[in-house]
Amino acid sequence: MTPTNADHEIRIASALRELEKYGSAPCGGRSRPSPRAQAEGPCPAEGTAGPRKAADLLAGLRAHDSRLLLSERDVHRLTPAVSEWLERGVPPTAVVRVLTADLPRDPIKHPAAFLAHRLAGQLPPALPAPPSRDTPAPARADPLQNCEGCERAFRAAGPGRCRDCRARPERAA
Ligand SMILES: [Zn+2]
Repeated sequence: MTPTNADHEIRIASALRELEKYGSAPCGGRSRPSPRAQAEGPCPAEGTAGPRKAADLLAGLRAHDSRLLLSERDVHRLTPAVSEWLERGVPPTAVVRVLTADLPRDPIKHPAAFLAHRLAGQLPPALPAPPSRDTPAPARADPLQNCEGCERAFRAAGPGRCRDCRARPERAA
């Protein structure tokens, strides 16, 4: 009789218990879900999305340049700075670009310090108002039209009669 199968199952069960006890992924933010919730699925999005996104962004920098490999502690320390960028309306891709652009040719001895310096030194100002890229001039006026009834100029989306003429009963020509 071979006890390997039973052994195996016991090992899996205890591994799962460990996972449940410590949680697979630490969640940043105020509301800390129960260890069970952490083991079962992803962190809840509400409230924790910002820091989570910032931490993921930092952890992912090493994919752009292996010298930007950060320890977990470094990621924790830099997360507030990156969150600040994101809160100021800078898209994550742009933050990554700023942090990975024009890297020195020399080895980066302290990637965390290097990144902290960039994050602090190049932090853009907060947006004064929501982005207004595609918004037309605030009070967009309709084009001028010549009234077909009285030839007065009036503003409308298309040709026709002015308000006065439309209010008046149509006169026979
Ligand atoms: Zn008119």
